[in-house]
Amino acid sequence: MRLERKVAFISGGARGIGAAIAKLFASEGASVVIGDILERDGIATEARIQEAGGEARFVHMDVRSESQWRHAIGTAISRYGKLDVLVNNAGISRSGSVEEMPVQTWDEVMSINNRGMFFGVKAAMPHMRTAGRGSIINVSSQFGVVGTDIADPAYVASKGAVTLFTKALAVTYAKENIRVNSLHPGPIKTPANDNLSDPERLSRVLPLVPMGRVGEAEEVAYAALYLASDESSFVTGAELLVDGGWTAI
Ligand code: NAD
Repeated sequence: MRLERKVAFISGGARGIGAAIAKLFASEGASVVIGDILERDGIATEARIQEAGGEARFVHMDVRSESQWRHAIGTAISRYGKLDVLVNNAGISRSGSVEEMPVQTWDEVMSINNRGMFFGVKAAMPHMRTAGRGSIINVSSQFGVVGTDIADPAYVASKGAVTLFTKALAVTYAKENIRVNSLHPGPIKTPANDNLSDPERLSRVLPLVPMGRVGEAEEVAYAALYLASDESSFVTGAELLVDGGWTAI
């Protein structure tokens, strides 16, 4: 198995891409801890992994809180003894142009998508340093690489920040054998993106995807699996795009 004896923490793992990552990691032998604000979905994902014979724990947490991050990572350490992989996946998007967007919405997006990631790395780093190894995967977006007018500007700004935050960490921690990479999904069918089943939305999105379809959460999870595993042992600071060719145009 590709993640045998590894311990992974996945923020926003209750549903969507994070849940797909949690399930795949567990099926490849990892013990996974899921942190999310969605209690019911988190417990359901934990149960599904356990029913399939995997090892999983759900922890209720809001990524905006540094103390909740410390508690959540502490749960992984006390239960499984170490932390090999951190997937900073929790993220949100909103709507509206710069002129329409209230500052509270801007702050909310930045707070979950960027500040949450900052706290996650802060909480995980001491444990990875002690172990002398680690893999951090920061979930960005195709909009962390190119601009658009079909997503809100706070989202695009936050995902661009994830891309370069990742590279700064990759350079800083490379000598300590802690690898940090960003993962960039294109349009993926998830609860957050259920408007992809709306024909009008699809007719705007599909012409932008050379592969002519939207992706599945599992297709992103397989890319996360590569970055989490020792197969990617010389890969750090990379941007791994899973976008059906969106950014290749
Ligand atoms: P989703 O809404 O289905 O899942 C996101 C998860 O994050 C949810 O379980 C949610 O409860 C959790 N979350 C949100 N705010 C949180 C908070 N404050 N504290 C803890 N957990 C919180 O969305 P998704 O589509 O699976 O997105 C996952 C990641 O992938 C996000 O970072 C998103 O920006 C990114 N992404 C998604 C797409 C897509 O098309 N679905 C494309 C590019 C990037």
